[in-house]
Amino acid sequence: MDGLTGLYNSRQFYRVIDEERSRVLRYGQILSLLFIDIDDFKMFNDTYGHPEGDEALARFGKLVKRSLRETDSAFRYGGEEFVVLLPMTGKMAGVQLAERIRSAFAEEKFLPQPEQEVSMSVSVGVAQLRGEETAEAFIKRADSRMYKAKQTGKNRVVFEP
Ligand code: GH3
Ligand code: MG
Ligand code: MG
Repeated sequence: MDGLTGLYNSRQFYRVIDEERSRVLRYGQILSLLFIDIDDFKMFNDTYGHPEGDEALARFGKLVKRSLRETDSAFRYGGEEFVVLLPMTGKMAGVQLAERIRSAFAEEKFLPQPEQEVSMSVSVGVAQLRGEETAEAFIKRADSRMYKAKQTGKNRVVFEP
């Protein structure tokens, strides 16, 4: 587990993604992945301090947990990056969940300084596992869509190449 966010850590992610991928190959199920990165987080840290940044990460972890269904699992991939594995979920349902997380986080109000209400946002890439695709290629595809969300203005969900 990751102590700050209450989500699983990246070591656990690599274990679970291999398991879920095997299940897909064996039983022909579907699997989707969200790759989430907090927007302009360095600026937030630099402006309000590291403890406020930690607080924001913890709140994001709680928000993600609240948004998931029983079979979904969320992980802190690194720093301010998160991944969510969605078994038996296609791309469109994955996009819907990503959009719910994105809009809920954008609506959260942070008060890092007295009388200084600020909002934050996330960029999200969504991918559905392709037949015989390696876990590494699958993660990379979701990551590059997240990167595309950054390039096209942040605070958005991208699910096309
Ligand atoms: P972008 O919108 O392109 O994602 O920009 P960004 O500023 O979010 O991305 P960048 O990778 O430049 O900065 C990430 C920052 O996240 C830098 C680092 O200080 C901060 N960070 C990483 N882990 C932690 C943590 O555990 N606590 C806090 N407070 N900050 C962290
Ligand atoms: Mg990042
Ligand atoms: Mg970031």
